[in-house]
Amino acid sequence: MKQRPADDYVHVSSVNWQPFPGEFSGGGIRWKLLHVSPEVGTWAAIFDCPKGSSFASHIHIGPGEYFLTKGKMEVRGGQEKGGATASAVGYGYEACNARHDQTHFLEDSEFYMTFLGPLQFIDKEGNTLAVVGWEQAQALWAQQTGQS
Ligand code: ZN
Repeated sequence: MKQRPADDYVHVSSVNWQPFPGEFSGGGIRWKLLHVSPEVGTWAAIFDCPKGSSFASHIHIGPGEYFLTKGKMEVRGGQEKGGATASAVGYGYEACNARHDQTHFLEDSEFYMTFLGPLQFIDKEGNTLAVVGWEQAQALWAQQTGQS
């Protein structure tokens, strides 16, 4: 008999920010991993993104939903290049296989995101640098916070 997965609650303000790895971002982005769901392969996190910061090129292997609570974020090149320029408070859905060559923050920003699958970080030629799913996110978070 399998166990029902556990429910969870996180008081976000009580969790310390951790640096998001420099290989995946630039400009001082920090994160808090809020939940991982092995049963559906999802993970949820909140990100603190200073003005001028950005995420490195990646592909959303599964779709993702975000909720921008503060600031301004350019996704897929921003509105001028056919993407989205999100302003707080904003919600967005990124479809399966969405490629984000640069996600850029025009102001000090904060957003929550649920990843329905891994992120594949890529180089300019599209070669895989890393695949970050719930297991890798959880392992990184455990390492950063000294949990095991
Ligand atoms: Zn993205």
